[in-house]
Amino acid sequence: MHTPEGFAPGHALPAPVPECAIAFAFRDGKVLVSGDGQPGTEPRLPDWRDLAALGLAGRAHYLGALGGVDCIAVGLADDAPEPPSWRYAGLRSLFFALPDPLLALAARAFQIVDWDATHRYCGRCGTATHAKADERAKECPACGLVAYPLVTPAMMVLVTRGRELLLARAHRFPPAMFSALAGFVEPGETIEDCIRREVREEVGVEVDRLEYFASQSWAFPHSLMIAFNAEYAGGELRPDGHEIAEAHWFAHDAVPKLPPSLSIARRLIDATVERLARGAQPSC
Ligand SMILES: [Zn+2]
Repeated sequence: MHTPEGFAPGHALPAPVPECAIAFAFRDGKVLVSGDGQPGTEPRLPDWRDLAALGLAGRAHYLGALGGVDCIAVGLADDAPEPPSWRYAGLRSLFFALPDPLLALAARAFQIVDWDATHRYCGRCGTATHAKADERAKECPACGLVAYPLVTPAMMVLVTRGRELLLARAHRFPPAMFSALAGFVEPGETIEDCIRREVREEVGVEVDRLEYFASQSWAFPHSLMIAFNAEYAGGELRPDGHEIAEAHWFAHDAVPKLPPSLSIARRLIDATVERLARGAQPSC
């Protein structure tokens, strides 16, 4: 997930909202799309006019404009009806079904709606918050506390040792699937501190020569995954048995079942395997 090309972000809701604005309307974490979800039917997002015609309304948040078309996130009530010929779909079920730019904006909308729903009252004094006019934030009128949309940084690291890759299987993974290591940043840590700590805690090895690879916004629920390569620098491979069920060194040309291609984990692993394979070829 990333910012789509041609998207200009904003936060001030236009008045009135144009009828052709794209509506990302969420009920209990699922977004309203057309159709019954059967293979062969392409889901479509409603526009503002559709939403009004369906009698649906909720808390609206301006996201910005995609190619000049306004995009609005809407948080519907948990008991909002499901109109005939429309359905509420989980975001994961829309991968490869919605065009990438719309899927990325749906993920963005999901996070804004979720943040709005969980920050209606001040965390310090319990007073109802209101939207801040000049930025995407909520402010407490009683004590002045300001709350911004939540983004939680997490690291991912693929450790290599020569032409081997360190891949691990977490208990929560599907059977036989292995991936790079990952973990959330703790207060006071840099991303590099987090990588060294998590690798030490999860598999007992030390790493060095950290190299940034890429980052990915991940809306489940509000992570920013920041991916690195690193080189093995010592220690015995010892999975913690708590989060990590298994961890092994795999030869670059004999990797196990990996995460799906959409994930940054897969991109990181594929790019590293390719680099190691290139290095394995004789130079001439
Ligand atoms: Zn307050």
